[in-house]
Amino acid sequence: MALLTKAPRGTSDILPESAALYRFLEDRFIETATAYGFREIRTPVFEHTELFNRSVGETTDVVQKEMYTFNDNGGRSITLRPEGTAGVARAVLEHGLTGDAMPLKLFYITSCYRYEKPQAGRLREFHQFGVEYFGTEDPVADAEIIALADGFLSSLEIGNYSLRINSIGCPACRAEYHRALKGYFEKNLDRMCGNCRERFERNPMRLLDCKVPECHEIASGAPSILDYLCDDCRAHFDGVKRQLNVLGIPFEIDPHIVRGLDYYTRTVFEFVSGALGAQSTVCGGGRYDGLLQELGGKPVPALGFGMGEERLKLIYENAVPGNNDLMSTVDLYMIPADDEAKDLVTATVNDLRRCGMNAERDVCGRSVKAQMKYAGKLGARFTMILGETELREGSALIKDMQTGDTERLPLEELSYEILMHIGEKYLAEMDEDPDPTPPDNVPGLTVLRGGKNTDQ
Ligand code: ATP
Ligand code: MG
Repeated sequence: MALLTKAPRGTSDILPESAALYRFLEDRFIETATAYGFREIRTPVFEHTELFNRSVGETTDVVQKEMYTFNDNGGRSITLRPEGTAGVARAVLEHGLTGDAMPLKLFYITSCYRYEKPQAGRLREFHQFGVEYFGTEDPVADAEIIALADGFLSSLEIGNYSLRINSIGCPACRAEYHRALKGYFEKNLDRMCGNCRERFERNPMRLLDCKVPECHEIASGAPSILDYLCDDCRAHFDGVKRQLNVLGIPFEIDPHIVRGLDYYTRTVFEFVSGALGAQSTVCGGGRYDGLLQELGGKPVPALGFGMGEERLKLIYENAVPGNNDLMSTVDLYMIPADDEAKDLVTATVNDLRRCGMNAERDVCGRSVKAQMKYAGKLGARFTMILGETELREGSALIKDMQTGDTERLPLEELSYEILMHIGEKYLAEMDEDPDPTPPDNVPGLTVLRGGKNTDQ
């Protein structure tokens, strides 16, 4: 039975309160990415396994240990995407998008799958925001995506995060660096883990990213890539630093950042937060100038980042506790006091909903008293009771549950009257509020702007 009532390890249901926070973060990310000129792309949840082997890299943890790979009924090897870049790069090649005017700027919001040891900020199904930027080698672009991530994070007012950058060079300058690294690690190899020993020959830079404490300790004394950059890579890195200074974005240079995926070249960066404990990286990215060619396309320089939504949510909840106001709330709860009033309530609530107002009514056969109590539980801002007396008099009281104010509204064209009343109240409050929410979520505003609702 437990299999029926318990989600697989490392996955989590996003219940309405959390979903409201995810939605808020996503909307804010979309706003920022759009302002920076990125347009959305959506790619499949699964791809051919070969795509990730080639792009993420055969000697990475992701490919060797973390992928959800299976054969489908047609006998093809399929993998649930462990990250967002490979699928986007594949789609860009498949649809010839680099043939259009460059640069190409894309963003995505996506779920990812990695078979990892679940803990705070580390799941098996998680979500990422990301951007991918194709067709430019200019350090201005590197600084631009860093500025996008920084602008997004700072707009959330979560404080307490920092940016670390590094350059891991290009294949040309890496050859000599690999030799230096091998020389260093060779002496320590017998104290390192099995993975490191196995990767030593093929991909010594992977040893810099090992999470086993003893290996990490040894890696911290390894030669720095920054001492081996070729002239072009050095000039590029200087350019990125200069651009970040122009933008006033503080950063630290951390020669130990190599990132966990093989496709990176030159710039790599991470945003880390003190609020996250061991899983401190909220955003990781960099250049992958060789990726499109590796996948069979023409060489097109490119760069991007991925940001973990779950980690971002942890930081946000830590910095801004009690985010309940992100949940949509009930504007009006209508209470039919008897059967005669029910039809008017049914029609009115439906009209109001079609105008975008969150209107509710009882569907559980509750008494008037119990309905009032329930309206309170929902946090309904306004209530209105309709019964025999109201029908006879042709009017009813609408009550503001926050102030206790009541006002009598005629039943003729009741939906319109309610929209006017509530819309005007909300607008008046926004006028008083020094920092009002944007007016498009004020119920009834369309009606107030455009005259009477012709639907009625
Ligand atoms: P880490 O070093 O923490 O394992 P990573 O280098 O594997 O991270 P990337 O592949 O660069 O991470 O993914 C970008 C971002 O996605 C990370 O910075 C993190 O915020 C998030 N992320 C990565 N793996 C997970 C996971 N298993 N659960 C939740 N978020 C994750
Ligand atoms: Mg990882």
